[in-house]
Amino acid sequence: MKKAVRRLDGWTAGAPANERFPEILARLKRAYPDAHCELDFSNPFQLVSATILSAQCTDVRVNMVTPVLFAKYPDAQALADARQEDVEEIIRSTGFFRNKAKSLIGMAQAVAADHQGEVPATMNALVALPGVGRKTANVVLGNAFAINEGIVVDTHVARLSGRLGLTRHADPVRIEQDLMALTPQDDWALLSHLLIFHGRRICIARKPKCGECVLAELCPSASMP
Ligand code: SF4
Repeated sequence: MKKAVRRLDGWTAGAPANERFPEILARLKRAYPDAHCELDFSNPFQLVSATILSAQCTDVRVNMVTPVLFAKYPDAQALADARQEDVEEIIRSTGFFRNKAKSLIGMAQAVAADHQGEVPATMNALVALPGVGRKTANVVLGNAFAINEGIVVDTHVARLSGRLGLTRHADPVRIEQDLMALTPQDDWALLSHLLIFHGRRICIARKPKCGECVLAELCPSASMP
């Protein structure tokens, strides 16, 4: 993409990230007032399960599978007692289904055995669960418990953070640290949703629609037609 520096009220897309970011956040909030987690869930157990299934898979596909999974295994104890091949059959279409079934059952067994069947609400306890890393833990804390402990960095968040010049890093942990330094803590969960919404609709991976982008004047990667 062509490097663009555009003036906006006296500052430019080449300005430091901390100067541009409040306006970037404000514009994203205006553009996507309904930004939210697009995985369907009604409790923390369902969200941690859906997030495990979402690896390398669309939320739409996960949402087609989880009603069947949750009807058959409504809580951690039920899933802890499941036969791996039965779970595999239900989640097959989400890809990597053997590993995901193993993670789901392992997660459920740990929740049932160590947490009285309730998904824990701390980062340390969540990342100790099989199949749960920092990204999944951030999804669960931010969306099921309304705890802003960190920022979810998925492929969209990583791509947009780089294009918008909010980070120079490629490693998700470093990207998360840079975003946390820029963003008010109350907005940490929301920021991920905003970037994901924008990444799915406008700043798409292969061909970003810079000409339609509300962030173009603020974006050092903007390439206008
Ligand atoms: S679509 Fe917007 S955010 Fe993405 S590169 Fe273009 S101007 Fe930047």
